Amino acid sequence: MNVDLHCHTTVSDGTLNPCELVSLAVERQLDMLAITDHDSIDCYQQIGTSGHNFSLITGIEFSTTWQNRSVHIVGLNIDLYNQALLQGVRQQTLARDQRAIKIAERLERLGFENTLKGARAFSNGGQIGRPHFAQHLVKINAVVSIQQAFNKYLGSGKAGDIKEHWASLEDVVGWIRGAGGVAVLAHPTKYKMTRTKLCSLLEDFIDAGGEAMEVISGSQAPSITKSMADLCNKYKLLASCGSDFHSPDQPWASLGHVPELPASCVPVWTRWQ
Ligand code: AMP
Ligand code: MN
Ligand code: MN
Ligand code: MN
Repeated sequence: MNVDLHCHTTVSDGTLNPCELVSLAVERQLDMLAITDHDSIDCYQQIGTSGHNFSLITGIEFSTTWQNRSVHIVGLNIDLYNQALLQGVRQQTLARDQRAIKIAERLERLGFENTLKGARAFSNGGQIGRPHFAQHLVKINAVVSIQQAFNKYLGSGKAGDIKEHWASLEDVVGWIRGAGGVAVLAHPTKYKMTRTKLCSLLEDFIDAGGEAMEVISGSQAPSITKSMADLCNKYKLLASCGSDFHSPDQPWASLGHVPELPASCVPVWTRWQ
């Protein structure tokens, strides 16, 4: 089975719109796909949830703050009409808007004017995020690449890295579970935590009601897959896998090109199949 349970569209910081993403999923012969835009479920208004050539699982990627760090939680197989979930999405949308104002203020202090307007133009009505600020900084020649924008101004510990606006782990997991979904810890290796710290996060996540983790995120090395599978099984979590696709020009996060889950893991889709 070709499964990809983590990807983005123009509704957040992806470059393909929801219809284009669905076309690419068909081209890549996916059997199961979840679109997981940052703090938004608007893609489903455009493509619906049924009638596709593959199994479309509803999804979202929520931003949370845990111990003063940004941690992402994917929600899978959620009821898109659940009122508490919708309220959560509204709260996070507001948080994104307020954070964007703050990021712009910080960038202004560094001498870059009108970055909010510039970033908004790139977000094109969708959820505004740091990649849109990065695109604007590239456009005005403040940096040569998105990567450099993150390294200098937006990445962890830099001026534009503001994370105090996000909901707590407990709230986010609660919204997902309340909507009948499975809460999945996204890309555990991206947080660059020690093993001890990651275990502490997993324990808090499980206490909050979290039930799964991404054993595979993007085209990762087999040694990392083994280490994540061990962690997943240690905590008796369900295993998920996804590319974290944002754009066709990022070959390390390519839609539908996700290594298979190790046989030792219990796949998350056993919950709804
Ligand atoms: P935000 O949702 O505004 O916090 O932005 C987070 C998004 O920025 C991630 O989902 C990635 O798409 C992107 N991102 C994070 N770190 C980097 C980086 N170092 N280089 C390029 N993109 C990044
Ligand atoms: Mn992103
Ligand atoms: Mn993420
Ligand atoms: Mn993502």
